[in-house]
Amino acid sequence: MRSADDAALRQMAKAWRADVPVFAGGIHATLATEDVLSVPEIDGACRGEGELAFLELLNKLDHNAPIEDTAGFWFKRDGEILRNRRRPFIRDLDSLPYMDRAAIDYQRTIDVNNDLVTTMVGRGCAYECTFCANAQLKAAGTGMYVRNRSVDNALGDLEEMAGRFHFQYINFRDDNFSWNRPWVMEFCEKYPQKYSWPFDCFSRSDTLDDDQMRALKEAGCRHVFLGLDAGNDRIRRDVLNKHTSAREMIDVCDKLNRLGIKAVVSNIVGLPHETPKDFEDTIEVNRRIHEKQVVFSPAFGAAPKIWVFVPFPGTPLHEMCAKEGWLREVPGDFRIYRETHIEMPQFTPKQIMRAYRNFRFNVYKRRHPFWACIFRLYDTAAVTWVMERIPDYWFGQVRRFFAAISHRLRPAPTPAVH
Ligand code: SF4
Repeated sequence: MRSADDAALRQMAKAWRADVPVFAGGIHATLATEDVLSVPEIDGACRGEGELAFLELLNKLDHNAPIEDTAGFWFKRDGEILRNRRRPFIRDLDSLPYMDRAAIDYQRTIDVNNDLVTTMVGRGCAYECTFCANAQLKAAGTGMYVRNRSVDNALGDLEEMAGRFHFQYINFRDDNFSWNRPWVMEFCEKYPQKYSWPFDCFSRSDTLDDDQMRALKEAGCRHVFLGLDAGNDRIRRDVLNKHTSAREMIDVCDKLNRLGIKAVVSNIVGLPHETPKDFEDTIEVNRRIHEKQVVFSPAFGAAPKIWVFVPFPGTPLHEMCAKEGWLREVPGDFRIYRETHIEMPQFTPKQIMRAYRNFRFNVYKRRHPFWACIFRLYDTAAVTWVMERIPDYWFGQVRRFFAAISHRLRPAPTPAVH
């Protein structure tokens, strides 16, 4: 995330000709702008939404006009950082074209993900959990941060994809698909009139009511990804600024399961101020949620999900860890969620890694001993090492195999466009 990423950025930037200016954008460039600009090869960084900011910058470059006052961008000048004003968030997402997926070999991306297509219907999240990038992303612009495309416009994106690519499932990657109740109800009414692809989405337990859950089921939803993050109330409330209750999470998961929607619960281990005893609450809440079923989803893989806490630069928890002197060097690759990056006295790195590797075993061992043994093996360092080296396609096949077993070899539904 930090030094190793800087090296990667430098390498990418160097690949361009020396006279081509290089601009960074995205979440890291927004949250850790000064770090990104400290890379000598980077000329500027876009903070927040890039579509209009970058368009303005390109138009200026095209007309040989000065770019230094482009809103939304920070630049380097004479060793100083030039911080331009923030831009308003794009209010009407329907005014943006759909993502140009043809710019890459998108069919291959779908194929290696087992016929799964990933898309978003909106932007932003209304909450401010301290480990997440959303609060800082929200601060990078002005105006309304949480927005959706209109339902018809979102369905139009799917129609366009259907005309270009072959896929069988959809994964809506919005941070919280259910934040806007009337939108969800309209979507669930219109979607099945046109499509029958099963879909998965992300949500929050306090934004899902019974009607929404029923409507999602009827529309074809098969998995809902929910963040418990920590089973301990003190950690969730005081450290994560997440004001949902474990009881509510259990209730929502039970309701989803009764409807035939599988809840994929996400958890974090090694949070600031967390103790091994606090983490036992996370195991306990997951045990209760998975009393009746094991979840292994083609879209999300093995569940419940478990991540090792990563202090993202720019977030309140990164600040907290820096203040306490807990930060360790963070590698810049995808294993960052599988290694611990902080060193706390009350929950040592060794204890954190042991808790991480044994988590699913501990969740399933009482009610589902067979699966507990499978996960004991699946979560070992040796298997992780091998999995990381398996090409994406074969990794997808392994996931699909386990998902098929967990669905009791039930064949996948055949989707169709009406
Ligand atoms: S609810 Fe989820 S997406 Fe929203 S701020 Fe919290 S962690 Fe981030």
